[in-house]
Amino acid sequence: MPELPEVETVRSGLANAIVGRTIRNTSIFHHRAINPKSEFDFAILEGQKVISVGRRGKFLWIRTQGSLNLVAHLGMSGQFLIQPKRKTDEVHLRARISFTKGTDELRFIDQRTFGWLAISGDGPEVPLMASHIARDLFDPEFNTKLVVESILLKKSEIKRVLLDQKVLSGIGNIYADESLWRARIHPQTAANSLTRRQLSNLLRQATAVMSEALAVGGTSFDELYVNVNGQSGYFDRTLAVYGREGEPCDRCGTPIIRISFANRSSHLCPKCQIWPAISAGGTIFENR
Ligand SMILES: [Zn+2]
Repeated sequence: MPELPEVETVRSGLANAIVGRTIRNTSIFHHRAINPKSEFDFAILEGQKVISVGRRGKFLWIRTQGSLNLVAHLGMSGQFLIQPKRKTDEVHLRARISFTKGTDELRFIDQRTFGWLAISGDGPEVPLMASHIARDLFDPEFNTKLVVESILLKKSEIKRVLLDQKVLSGIGNIYADESLWRARIHPQTAANSLTRRQLSNLLRQATAVMSEALAVGGTSFDELYVNVNGQSGYFDRTLAVYGREGEPCDRCGTPIIRISFANRSSHLCPKCQIWPAISAGGTIFENR
């Protein structure tokens, strides 16, 4: 699933390709591509000029001159591709946006249909549909001190808190595991048992790992994430724990383990990330 670095890669690619262009036509090919909370019909975009492409966490939006936003969430497998108009439609093509000028168009492709598009009016800072999402670590207004204090109020396991988009946005399973490994914190540690120093360091490590990923176009772990030109990111080659079960830890050589987490898994080094003195509960299944 695309996380902050991948969505930011898509945002900057979209901005380069479509800002300043006027939308001619919109076509929707699958009912699940439209979020039922969409405030307007898609045809309202026709004739609108794109003025910017914004992002908060994993939410993207294309803003138009008429203060409308085409808000998007890529879900598990959503892709925005800039394609030549003459190119054959993709099997999982869900929506097409054409422009008044140019030989290319914007396509939204989504194999698993967990991604969605919607039209939303403007909020004070971000579109109304994205206003419940907390700031992300790439946001210049992100306030580490405030976020550390809000994490300290949580009794649940730290990994769950890192993934809570109302605490801070943009972190998913891959970068949560990588950040916790870098900060030497076990994912099942109770959030409120960590120190302020540990938590500030964890947020610093999360920013660092996601900035490094952004620099190489993100992580294409399951090959469904690509940038707007259809190219993969290269950060999967640099991952320290995610998807590396059984391989030696880069720091101490101990084999990386995978434990159950919600319906997914956490990957960690059982030596560097010691079992917490205060655990938020959960069962450990080594090498499940
Ligand atoms: Zn280790």
